[in-house]
Amino acid sequence: MDTQVGIVGGGPAGLMLSHLLHLQDIEAVIVEARSREKLQTEVRAGVLEQGTVDLLRETGVGERMDQEGAVHHGIELRFNRQGHRIPLSDLTDGREIMLYGQHEVVKDLISTRLDAGGQIFFEAEAVGLHDIETQKPTIRYRHDGQDHELRCDVIAGCDGYYGVCRPSIPSEIRTEYERRYPFGWFGILAEAPPSSEELIYTLHERGFALISTRSPEVQRMYFQCDPDDDVGNWSDEQIWKELRVRTEVHDGWALEEGPIIEKGIVGMRSFAVEPMQYGRLYLAGDAAHIVTPTGAKGMNLAIRDVRTLAEALRAWYEKGRTDLLEDYSNTCLKRAWKAQRFSWWMTSMLHRFPDDEGFQHNLQLAELEYVTSSQAAATSLAENYVGIAFDH
Ligand SMILES: Cc1cc2nc3c(=O)[nH]c(=O)nc-3n(C[C@H](O)[C@H](O)[C@H](O)COP(=O)(O)OP(=O)(O)OC[C@H]3O[C@@H](n4cnc5c(N)ncnc54)[C@H](O)[C@@H]3O)c2cc1C
Repeated sequence: MDTQVGIVGGGPAGLMLSHLLHLQDIEAVIVEARSREKLQTEVRAGVLEQGTVDLLRETGVGERMDQEGAVHHGIELRFNRQGHRIPLSDLTDGREIMLYGQHEVVKDLISTRLDAGGQIFFEAEAVGLHDIETQKPTIRYRHDGQDHELRCDVIAGCDGYYGVCRPSIPSEIRTEYERRYPFGWFGILAEAPPSSEELIYTLHERGFALISTRSPEVQRMYFQCDPDDDVGNWSDEQIWKELRVRTEVHDGWALEEGPIIEKGIVGMRSFAVEPMQYGRLYLAGDAAHIVTPTGAKGMNLAIRDVRTLAEALRAWYEKGRTDLLEDYSNTCLKRAWKAQRFSWWMTSMLHRFPDDEGFQHNLQLAELEYVTSSQAAATSLAENYVGIAFDH
C-alpha cells in the first residue's frame, strides 16, 4: 500500500495530524496498535490550552467540546490551609482553558476522520520502520494476523514514549534527556459533584494534591504517592482521608465524595529527545517528549507539534519548500523545552521531596506566597498555563 504520510499511532498527535493533512488535501494513513474502543475510553489529560481549543474549533472538531467542556478562567493554589486564586484570564488578556477529556478529543477526531473517509487501521501494530533515509520509507505492521507494508513519502512517529519510531533514529544521532522524580500520582475518578468551580493545586506537609473535574457527575483527583506503591494498598476510605487532609482549609470548604470508579498510579518523569527528525521520519508528541502532568502540557504540546508538521508538509507538497521541514525539530524543541521548564517548576513547587528536611519545603512556601501575591509572578504562571501563543 502507498500513501503520502504514514502515521504511526492514533493518539491525539496522530489523529490531529491526519485531520490537518486531510484539510490540506494530503493523504495519510494511521496505523494504531490498540482498538478504537480502548482509545476512546482511556482517561488521561483533561486541560486544553487556549491554542488547542482554537485549533479544534477552527478545524471543525470543536462542536461537542463547546457543548460539553467547561471553560475555566482561573485556578487555585492552596497552601498553609488557605486558597489563593490565580485569575488566568484577567492576567492574560482574556485567554482561558477548557476542561475536556483527552478521550473525548480522541473520540471527536476518530469520528471526523472516519466520516471523511480517512484511513485508520486499528489493532495494527507497527513492528519496524525501513529505508527512512530514502525517499520511500516504509512502515511494516501486523494487522489481522498478517504482515503488511505501508510505503510513504514521509513517516510521522506519533506512537508515544514506548513506540517503535524514536528507536529507529540511530543511537549515535539521538540524544535523550531524562529526569525521574522520587514520587508518583495516585489518581482516582469518582462519581461525585464538583468540589470547586476551578482546579485546586495543593501543597501540604504530606505532599501534593490536585482536585480536578471531568464532568458535573465525574471528578478527577490526584495525590502524590510513592511511585512503587500499589493501588491495592489503599482502601477507598484511606484515599478520601488522604485527600481530605491534604486539601483542608479553614473556611468551611468540604471535599465532595462519592463512589470511586477508577484508580491508578503514574510515575513522574520528564523526557526529551533531540533531534525530533531523521531522514524522512518526524517525531511528534510523547514519542519525542514527556512532561510531568503538573503543568497540563503533554497533549497540548503533541497538538502543537503536529500543527507545525502539517504546515511544513503543506509548504513542501504545495511549493516544494524544504525550509520548514528542516526547521521542524528546532521549532518544536524550543517550545517543548519551555513546556519542560514550566512543568518542572510547577512540579518542584508543589511536591514534597522525600530527602527534604524542611529547607526545600520552606522555599516552596515562599515561592507560593510570592506567586500568589505578586502580579508579575502570577502573570508568568498564567501565561504559561493557558499556553504561550503558537508562534513562540
Ligand atoms: C495522569 C496524566 C495526566 C495528564 N494530564 C494532562 C493534561 O491535563 N493536559 C495535557 O495536555 N496532557 C496531559 N497528560 C499527557 C497526555 O496524556 C499525553 O501527552 C498525550 O497522550 C500525548 O499524545 P500522543 O498522541 O503524543 O501519544 P499517545 O496518547 O501516547 O498516543 C500514542 C499512540 O500510539 C500507539 N502506538 C504505540 N506503539 C505503537 C506501534 N508500535 N504501532 C502502532 N501504534 C502504536 C499507542 O497505542 C497510542 O494510541 C497527562 C498524562 C497523564 C499520564
